[in-house]
Amino acid sequence: MARSSVVVASDVHDAVTEQLRSRQQRYTALRRKLVEALGGAKDPLTINDLQRSAKGVALSSLYRNLTILEECAVVSRIMTSNGSAIFELSESLSEHHHHLVCARCGLVRDIVVPESIEHGLDKQLVKLARKEGFTFQHHQLDVIGLCGKCS
Ligand SMILES: [Zn+2]
Ligand SMILES: [Zn+2]
Repeated sequence: MARSSVVVASDVHDAVTEQLRSRQQRYTALRRKLVEALGGAKDPLTINDLQRSAKGVALSSLYRNLTILEECAVVSRIMTSNGSAIFELSESLSEHHHHLVCARCGLVRDIVVPESIEHGLDKQLVKLARKEGFTFQHHQLDVIGLCGKCS
């Protein structure tokens, strides 16, 4: 369920302005609206959720602007198991988290894992990566299951 009352911090808008500027893009009113909607939501949003917060804007325009925001590392696009795309602010602008994914209906929920578990996980992953000659940078981890409606 999307929460829309949370205000996106001004330093997030500053960071977005910079990220867009570095790629010769402007932080237009519509892009700001999209960032507000994504930043204020508890979970990733569908294109329909985003259309509700940008009334009167054509779908094609929404997709075009989301693609630009994605290219500027402002927005992350997640493909759900049923083949549709959902959107969230990139982790650099929000916080590190994981996704709970319903294997049946494709519902995605954000979960924040306690810091102590994150730390232990990274320590092990650094070692495993090193064995393969990799320099560890970060991890992504989805949790797959059945949501309340599907189970
Ligand atoms: Zn489900
Ligand atoms: Zn993590």
